[in-house]
Amino acid sequence: MPDVPDVLVVGAGPAGAVAATILARAGVRVRLLDRAWFPRDKLCGDTLNPGSLALLGRLGLSGAADRDGLPIDGMLVTGRGGAVVRARYPAGLQGRALQRRALDAALLSAAVAAGATFDDGVRVEGPRMTDGRVRGAILQGRGGRRVTIDAPLTIAADGRRSRFAFGLGLARHPLRPRRWAIGGYFAGVDGLTSFGEMHIREGSYLGVAALPGGLANACLVVESPRGIANPAARLAGALARDAATANRFADARLAGPVTTMGPLAVDVRAAGAPGLLLAGDAAGFIDPMTGDGLRFAIAGAMLAARAALLHLEGRLADPAAALDAWRRRAFEGKWRFNRAVRLLVATPPAVRLASTGARLAPGLIRRAVAYAGDVGVM
Ligand SMILES: Cc1cc2nc3c(=O)[nH]c(=O)nc-3n(C[C@H](O)[C@H](O)[C@H](O)COP(=O)(O)OP(=O)(O)OC[C@H]3O[C@@H](n4cnc5c(N)ncnc54)[C@H](O)[C@@H]3O)c2cc1C
Repeated sequence: MPDVPDVLVVGAGPAGAVAATILARAGVRVRLLDRAWFPRDKLCGDTLNPGSLALLGRLGLSGAADRDGLPIDGMLVTGRGGAVVRARYPAGLQGRALQRRALDAALLSAAVAAGATFDDGVRVEGPRMTDGRVRGAILQGRGGRRVTIDAPLTIAADGRRSRFAFGLGLARHPLRPRRWAIGGYFAGVDGLTSFGEMHIREGSYLGVAALPGGLANACLVVESPRGIANPAARLAGALARDAATANRFADARLAGPVTTMGPLAVDVRAAGAPGLLLAGDAAGFIDPMTGDGLRFAIAGAMLAARAALLHLEGRLADPAAALDAWRRRAFEGKWRFNRAVRLLVATPPAVRLASTGARLAPGLIRRAVAYAGDVGVM
């Protein structure tokens, strides 16, 4: 393990693992930390959209998804009053469905194979600050000891509740919308296909995807934390009541714990600070409905790694400012789209209007699914 790495990466989810891989491949001394013990589960819909898959392919990191993932040919979207649109991704493009436990472990292995030093079970408390600059991290080492790690540059990829982004006042949960997610794995679900499913209802939505091993992922997103103290009952109740899932989940059984997360949305005002770059959900999270968080995580990690490399080579004086500008240029349009979708599902009249629109002009939904799937940025 390097005493002082060139770059400390906190969080070994997709954003952290991808950034660490790119940097380690370029000969940078990278130290990667995560509070969890890997392999670990992560509440997610478990789908890589076509844009995410293409990015991983370009990095030579799509092996696990290609080999072990189930193909996703598009999305089945249902709304009120029997509105149903089956939207196939264009030109034979596909995504993949794969448990995050497996995907994240594979991406982490690639980072370690590239030369990154990895420690799991290490909870970072926050940034180590000197003269207003992030110079590494303060963490709780094994046995509860408080330890500091020095690093000239830190990439915080520690997810939605980033200790760096919140700790430095860069992030906050917006007052509205506030949503919570409940997710679990089921066996014995009927009628699964190669289409991911999004069932949009007033005040909630349900995502379902077939997974390897005969499992299904089901995620419920709701606008109030009511009932999430008993998440298994809340999720089972929603699946049993919804016309799109009731019969198909009638004989299903839970295949693991049900987990919750929220409030979901995080607004971030800058993608870094002196000595710090943010990547993945740590750099902001809009809503899971568009199913593209992994594309932001991978693409954002690529940008953060580029900023770090140029800075280490002495060619970029202010990597945080550069990263912020690059992210805005790369993501602004998609952020706008995602915020519009988020707003739409928050307003019952808009859900009703969209359901009517879906019946009258299904092409609109097909275009939205293609855009959400990042098919144009490959
Ligand atoms: C309900 C739901 C469904 C979703 N479905 C999809 C989908 O189908 N497709 C899609 O593309 N996106 C989906 N997303 C979004 C996707 O899950 C995220 O965008 C993605 O996980 C972001 O990756 P990341 O690496 O930034 O963060 P994470 O995957 O959250 O990884 C962060 C890592 O940091 C570690 N960490 C956190 N705090 C600390 C700490 N203090 N010290 C050390 N380590 C720490 C964690 O253990 C974790 O391993 C969904 C999200 C939700 C909530």
